[in-house]
Amino acid sequence: MTAHLVRHESGYMTSPASSATGAADLPDYAPIPPSALGVALNDQGYYVGRVERNLYWVTDGTYQAAFLTTRDGVVLFDAPPTIGGNLRRAIDEMAAANGVTNRVTHLVYSHHHDDHSGAASLFDGDVVHIGHEETRRLLLRDNSPARPAPDVTFADRYTLEVGGERVELAWHGPNHSPDNIYIHFPDHDTLMFIDVVILDYPWTHFISGHLGRLATREDVAVHQAYIADIQASSKAALASVDPTPFYMKYGAAGNSWGFVQGYLDAVTERAAAPIIAKYTGVLAAADIEIYTRTTTFAIMQSLRLDSGPSGPVHP
Ligand SMILES: [Zn+2]
Repeated sequence: MTAHLVRHESGYMTSPASSATGAADLPDYAPIPPSALGVALNDQGYYVGRVERNLYWVTDGTYQAAFLTTRDGVVLFDAPPTIGGNLRRAIDEMAAANGVTNRVTHLVYSHHHDDHSGAASLFDGDVVHIGHEETRRLLLRDNSPARPAPDVTFADRYTLEVGGERVELAWHGPNHSPDNIYIHFPDHDTLMFIDVVILDYPWTHFISGHLGRLATREDVAVHQAYIADIQASSKAALASVDPTPFYMKYGAAGNSWGFVQGYLDAVTERAAAPIIAKYTGVLAAADIEIYTRTTTFAIMQSLRLDSGPSGPVHP
């Protein structure tokens, strides 16, 4: 492909001469399995639905938030900026349909990341912000006007009681982030836990914070099988890919970086290939490189470096 230099703020960079967005050059992917497709969005770009009774979830197809309507006010859980002003519309819609107040009295942060909380300032003023103590520390550090630090914080557990409803918040140690909490709705058979999945709690409905549908326990079982398969395939690839050609080409000449790149690429390729074949048509994105390949790379690196063997012991 021909390339030319384009002026860029930071200097000059190469760029393909032809349009980088030429659709003809873009790869084709397998059709999305129907089970992965989410709800249809309305004209304003959101969907709001009932999880159980007075617990609702809102999505823009990519992100999710939730809210609980009570006789004393609405409790909002997360405020992703991509849903933004549609949070207000979704709350108004459900409050009007059910004849309850639409006044938001509480906003609970699942964790401090902006992609799940960057619209929090839309619910400022009288709204009580609740979060883990680490969320408060991190939001004070970030000092972002979009995400006011929580006024009410807790260390391990916090029972939120509003208008006769009960929500159990808990922190069980760092996972996706240092401050990510479990938001359990025991009277709605629902767990909200963002960016991670888990079966430990009793739940039927799972609000993961992403995509256009709620998760089931069966979804988590499929995900666990996918990860277990990646682990087994990575172990097999680590045991079977011969590093010698990469060493001869790069390492022997002193380029250990070239050796690492070539060898780990080959291991990742071999480990990911059977996973992509098995899960294409089962899981959306299984055949899209950034998903299965980068997940395989991370798991393979962890197996190799964290639990070993990372290499032969020097005599
Ligand atoms: Zn996050």
